[in-house]
Amino acid sequence: MTFNDLNIIPEILKALSKENYTTPTPIQEQAIPAVLAGKDFLGCAQTGTGKTAAFAVPMIQLLSEEKSKPNAGRRIRSLILTPTRELALQIAENIKSYSQFTDVSCTAIVGGVSQKVQERALNNGTDIIIATPGRLIDLINQKRIDLQHVKILVLDEADRMLDMGFIHDVKRIIAKMPSKKQTLFFSATMPPEISKMVKSLLVNPVKVEITPVSSTVDRIKQSVYLLATGNKQDQLNHLLEDKAIVTALVFTRTKRGADRVVRDLTKVNVSAQAIHGNKSQTDRQKALSNFKSGVTRVLVATDIAARGIDIEELSHVINFNLPNIPETYVHRIGRTGRAGLSGTAISFCEVDELPFLKDIEKLIGKSIPEVKDHSYPMPRGSHAVKVERSSKPSNFAKPKPANKSKVNPARKPKAEWFKKEKGSRTSR
Ligand code: AMP
Repeated sequence: MTFNDLNIIPEILKALSKENYTTPTPIQEQAIPAVLAGKDFLGCAQTGTGKTAAFAVPMIQLLSEEKSKPNAGRRIRSLILTPTRELALQIAENIKSYSQFTDVSCTAIVGGVSQKVQERALNNGTDIIIATPGRLIDLINQKRIDLQHVKILVLDEADRMLDMGFIHDVKRIIAKMPSKKQTLFFSATMPPEISKMVKSLLVNPVKVEITPVSSTVDRIKQSVYLLATGNKQDQLNHLLEDKAIVTALVFTRTKRGADRVVRDLTKVNVSAQAIHGNKSQTDRQKALSNFKSGVTRVLVATDIAARGIDIEELSHVINFNLPNIPETYVHRIGRTGRAGLSGTAISFCEVDELPFLKDIEKLIGKSIPEVKDHSYPMPRGSHAVKVERSSKPSNFAKPKPANKSKVNPARKPKAEWFKKEKGSRTSR
């Protein structure tokens, strides 16, 4: 099946092809026709399954078709609620690219940034808002947002909203919308509170359950190097002396970081090119085709630039920097081990990335094996968080309450700092 078989309008097909999407993922295959038919939808799926396009594509299409009618106006006709700012911004970015050839517009409404820019976008009129609960409630209270015309509601990562204590806010927001609307509900797990919500919100939904990403990445051989600060490039050069690494996709956090890695690899005669947002589309495509055809051995990418890239037979993914959003790790390593092939994912972690490592292990539900025998070990003593993580790999489903009597007071400052970090990534 291709996207052409799903009755998608040409404007969206063009955008999907620009993203290099050719085949719909299983959730897209099932959600797109159901949503286009006006049905409610329940997706038991997590990030990495393609769920964003599964709801965004039919939503854009329905809004675009309605817009062509007379007196359609510019009102908020769709609301997507997400637990974190990062997810909201990522969805907004996806929607912007999927809708670029339509006249459907979207705005992210998240905390942590100036409200002014969001107000301006709202004043200009927007069809879709992608919001975290905190800022949305602020703007509703200030009467800057009216949800009375919402026709499609998406609740994304509902179980995470529950975990993060947003469920009451979500209920208050839903109460501001008309009761007659189409609801698309996504959750990786179905705890009782979420099942209750599903029953009260959805009418005869089409239900789809997708195997969790964490199990699909099981066949990928993962490892982590805990490194003393400032040695990542040397470690990478050393790794690439191994000719068994035929192709490697290296992820860096920043565009400048990507350029630096390419420069340093070139110095040691490893063929490498970068793709990131500062490169022209032509340069990006050239870098990608050189990599696919084996002209370059290493492609260095930022997450945004790598999104949607599908490279068959990629043997290695190397995380030069660990991502601060754990799902991004799953996306990254999922680039290897495609179509039943095995793959290898190697991560570099310096002391300030240990909390990210802990978050990742919590998401995938297991500890990533550490490579101990290497030239740049992280100094002893900076492992406090590491010790904590490897002694007790947490489960993806729900963290168990800590047994206070076993907490080592020496570790407390790190844990507090980690909590703060986590807190700062929530919606307000
Ligand atoms: P999501 O689960 O929506 O966060 O998507 C996971 C990743 O897969 C994102 O990087 C998307 O851009 C990418 N993606 C989604 N659908 C497709 C598709 N049909 N073909 C290729 N990549 C896709």
